[in-house]
Amino acid sequence: MESRAKSRPEARCPIRPGEPCTLCQLDVTGPQDCGLVYLVMHDDELREGLHRMSVPDAADR
Ligand code: SF4
Repeated sequence: MESRAKSRPEARCPIRPGEPCTLCQLDVTGPQDCGLVYLVMHDDELREGLHRMSVPDAADR
């Protein structure tokens, strides 16, 4: 039987779509307690801007 080391799934940074969380903020353990993620996700304009960045714009085609 093949043994595999247990590993936790890599956390993704919601602010940088497609990128892993690099713990770039002070005193965070991941996106779940990241103050920047909290601020962006609780601001309608910033959240919409982030959504626009992560979804290809059909109007540009
Ligand atoms: S600490 Fe926050 S901003 Fe930094 S990579 Fe992780 S989730 Fe993204």
